[in-house]
Amino acid sequence: MGRINDFLSSFLYIETFSIIVIAIYSWRRRKALGAFPLLFLCFSSAIYSFGYGMEITSTSLESVNLCSKFEYMGLSFIPVLWVIQAYSLANKDKKISNIIKVLIFIIPTLTCIFRIANDKLNFMYRNEKLISNGYFYILTYEKCFWYYIYYSFFFGCIVISTIMYYKAFLKASGLARRQLKIIIFISISAILFEGFDQLQIVPIKMDYGAFIMFFVYVLFAAAVYPFDIMHIIPVSREIIFDWIYDGVIVMDTNFNLKDFNYAAKEIFKCLDKSLIGTKLELCTSEACEFMKMIKIWYSGSEECSKKLLDGGFIKDTFEFRINSKGSVIYFKARLKALYYHGYRVGSTILISNVTKEKEEVLELEKMARFDQLTGLLSRAYFTKYSNVEFDKLHRKNQTGVLVMIDIDYFKRINDTYGHQAGDHILKEMAFIAKNMLRNKDLIGRYGGEEFIAFLPQLSLKQAKLAIECIRLAFQNHDFFYEDKLIKVTASFGMVECCKRTMANSYEQMVKKADIALYEAKKNGRNRIAVY
Ligand code: GH3
Ligand code: MG
Ligand code: MG
Repeated sequence: MGRINDFLSSFLYIETFSIIVIAIYSWRRRKALGAFPLLFLCFSSAIYSFGYGMEITSTSLESVNLCSKFEYMGLSFIPVLWVIQAYSLANKDKKISNIIKVLIFIIPTLTCIFRIANDKLNFMYRNEKLISNGYFYILTYEKCFWYYIYYSFFFGCIVISTIMYYKAFLKASGLARRQLKIIIFISISAILFEGFDQLQIVPIKMDYGAFIMFFVYVLFAAAVYPFDIMHIIPVSREIIFDWIYDGVIVMDTNFNLKDFNYAAKEIFKCLDKSLIGTKLELCTSEACEFMKMIKIWYSGSEECSKKLLDGGFIKDTFEFRINSKGSVIYFKARLKALYYHGYRVGSTILISNVTKEKEEVLELEKMARFDQLTGLLSRAYFTKYSNVEFDKLHRKNQTGVLVMIDIDYFKRINDTYGHQAGDHILKEMAFIAKNMLRNKDLIGRYGGEEFIAFLPQLSLKQAKLAIECIRLAFQNHDFFYEDKLIKVTASFGMVECCKRTMANSYEQMVKKADIALYEAKKNGRNRIAVY
């Protein structure tokens, strides 16, 4: 006696310490998958092993009994926590409902209470005696009904968790499969050891559960730490990698393909595992354009990386498009440099399909750019483009002509034929004017029944000839609305601009053209006036 129990109790204290270390590690990574249940599991196991360490060095019935009660404060909860741990790892942290949580904790809580109050209740044991197993004192007792309930629950929990792990194992692949295999081995070993213990097929009479736990945790840690599965992070990452809607492509520093996910294969249809280690450009010509952008970014971020590890301040997104079955699909790529111990090892590219957003933006742009009714430029865009043209002509010392056009007596047309007839005529007149102008001329709807045109690189004389053609076209055209012939004319105000000797702003030119238009109206309409 004496020596062996000191040795075993020291072993149990070391075990307690190791379990606490695992608990601290779990607490630090508590957001990770399965870490929270493991934390409680460690806590309960630490109470159990520490209590048993104390128990085997005790020599009186009272102190052994006291230690045993303390142990049950941890031991009672181990099986249920083991199930929760299995559930959270196998079901990827799917939440267990609160009702279920309360229900599954009923038996453990009662066990803990019944053990502590056993002296009075005798639900667990009766006739406790202290006997020697040849090495140290152990508690012997007659088992009562709750003892059987608790141990059935205990085995039930371990069997259920083993089944959960096994089901997850069948679905898993790669690393996850290997890790789950080790965990299943641990679970089955725990069942066998406890079974031998209960059936007393053991060399020395003692509680083997406390010692088994050490091996369970060592094995668990061996499964967990080298591959970091406690959190099953790599596993969940693997799943997420293939699960997300965005494409992910990983490349090394030589732009060789290293990895890609399922969504990336949906983008570059020809992507195949056989391409790993080669260039993405081999896959499709569209990938060439894509790779060109990545290489541009890479050389820029490489420079920056000397100062800033993640390539930081340079733009890390670009857009590209792929033609698929006659339609265009727009993508946005986000780039991230990959570092390992401070060395750049490659890049990750996250690709999102932005077709819907892009089409909406294009649609909005189109709506802002063009007048809905006539299809001519909107006033805002006409002003924007004209200003650019204006500056260009001014720099080149060339002339251009700004023209304001106003339909004559348009109100009368609306009043006589209705608003829809008016709309129809507006459209027709816009169509005529646009088609009679050159491609480089700009024409927009200024507002109501007024148009505005800018004819660059023309003298006033040349522009007047062009505008006269439009005036005559309006005058001679037979407009029809619902079989009714409608005759319409328009008045024009013109101003020459842009040469350096005519240093006028766009706004001033508009004002001047408007004054000329007023002149044309005043002088009888259907005519051109020059400012
Ligand atoms: P004036 O020869 O002096 O220019 O006479 P007008 O009748 O053309 O001029 P006024 O400014 O009095 O009337 C312009 C009319 O243009 C009034 C408005 O109802 C009509 N109008 C403006 N925008 C639209 C439009 O989008 N559709 C239709 N159908 N009519 C419009
Ligand atoms: Mg008007
Ligand atoms: Mg008018």
